[in-house]
Amino acid sequence: MKRKPNARPRRKTAARAIDFQTDWTYAPAPESTGHIQLRERYGLFINGQFVNPKSGKYFATTNPANEKKLAEVAEAGIADADRAVRAARQAYETVWSRLSAAERGKYLYRIARIIQERAREFSVIESMDGGKAIRESRDVDVPLVAAHFFYYAGWADKLAYAFPGKTPKPLGVAGQIIPWNFPLLMAAWKIAPALATGNTVVLKPAETTPLTALKLAEVFRDADLPPGVVNIITGGGATGAALVNHPDIDKVAFTGSTDVGKLILKALAGRKTKYTLELGGKAANIIFEDAALDQAVEGIVNGIFFNQGHVCCAGSRLFVQESVADVVVEKLKERMETLIVGDPLDKNTDIGAINSRMQLDKIQAYIKIGRDEGADFYQTSCKLPAKGYWCAPALFTNASQSHRIVQEEIFGPVLAIQTFRTIEEVLEKANNTPYGLSGGVWTDKGAKIFKMTSKLRAGVIWANTFSKFDPGSPFGGYKESGVGREGGLQGLMPYLQLA
Ligand code: NAP
Ligand code: MG
Repeated sequence: MKRKPNARPRRKTAARAIDFQTDWTYAPAPESTGHIQLRERYGLFINGQFVNPKSGKYFATTNPANEKKLAEVAEAGIADADRAVRAARQAYETVWSRLSAAERGKYLYRIARIIQERAREFSVIESMDGGKAIRESRDVDVPLVAAHFFYYAGWADKLAYAFPGKTPKPLGVAGQIIPWNFPLLMAAWKIAPALATGNTVVLKPAETTPLTALKLAEVFRDADLPPGVVNIITGGGATGAALVNHPDIDKVAFTGSTDVGKLILKALAGRKTKYTLELGGKAANIIFEDAALDQAVEGIVNGIFFNQGHVCCAGSRLFVQESVADVVVEKLKERMETLIVGDPLDKNTDIGAINSRMQLDKIQAYIKIGRDEGADFYQTSCKLPAKGYWCAPALFTNASQSHRIVQEEIFGPVLAIQTFRTIEEVLEKANNTPYGLSGGVWTDKGAKIFKMTSKLRAGVIWANTFSKFDPGSPFGGYKESGVGREGGLQGLMPYLQLA
């Protein structure tokens, strides 16, 4: 191993006479892409086939790490959304709703197994299309995707036990719209429970990350899933709106920003269509003075910097008890200097590319806002690649409750730090946000954890860890972070009529 500093030479402190990080680096270890097969152009996946869009339009999806085009994908218009919904309706009425629950489960098991077999291919494409580090897509996203299909496969023929005394029935056709930060995982969160409960699907992936959803279409074909049970239409916001506005969908499942969530609620007003909305977040990660501080620092890094901060539940607000604030911030800065920003396909990379030029502009605008608001800014000085979209990890200290960087979702590797003295103070500050998706508490005292978790207004709270997921555990927000739950037994309900 030879090392050239990715990070600038670190300041020597009394406690650290020998600095191991300054003058060595890992040799590059890029994941190979030779096994990846991408078409030059993808149509829409409707009724089990890739078809040309009636709109006649296509757009490019690019690799944000080098700005190179990966493929062209179809842009579905209103007529295309209609065709997909019709296919889903026909499959629902003629095939899927007539199949036994155990048979539905078998398809889901088969899909899960094929995803496991093709895990490497899916991880690489996810990192190429979206920019996330291969370590994340390989070790987090894709295993969770398979786990989700396995988990809901198990529920398919046990719905009567899940809801004793009720007769669960599917809703019909679900229109599902997902964002770009976890393209394949969000597809799994949506499709697996819908199919397990007997619904059929039209899915719209995000404009910047359509490829793994289109590869998933290949998996459905290989699993012999009946045509029309899952249809995938690509496009931008207008395509999503065409799906939401279609009169023949029974359910909308949306994950994305709170602004678009509000638009969808308006579009659904007065209609019978059921909905779940998984929206934005501004999680409080709270460190008490009795916490294991080194572990907490790892938790902070995991919560906001990995995955470029492109996480709805990111621990983007850090609250540190005053007595340990200086030492935590010092340790955090030291750790940040060791983070490797660069090629998403390199196995050593901690932080990959920002998903799009638009998102990078937004993050940079927030950094300027934070500096103008008067918070103290710190950013690691690692060398960023010349091409592509990059943001070195950054933090603000001396942030205050009224700052926009504390109140608004930045969706990038930028942390806002505040201090507190008492439990009451930190609870009030942590809950003072329009969002309520997730949170974290770090302390040595179990009683403090229980007190905090019962008073924090957030759907998920991690204790002495952060950003851990399991298909059996429900996920969803309070307040402007959304409506409904996904995952676990609770994730079945939004796809069922429970008479
Ligand atoms: P977004 O702009 O709201 O987009 C989400 C999806 O909606 C995309 O597929 C988008 O298409 C589509 N869309 C845009 N306008 C639409 C409209 N008028 N009608 C219907 N669909 C429309 O969100 P994003 O920027 O992609 O994703 C980041 C946001 O997602 C963050 O706020 C994050 O917190 C949230 N998120 C929440 C969760 C959760 O579980 N709560 C999980 C992940 C992400 P295009 O992208 O093609 O424009
Ligand atoms: Mg892309």
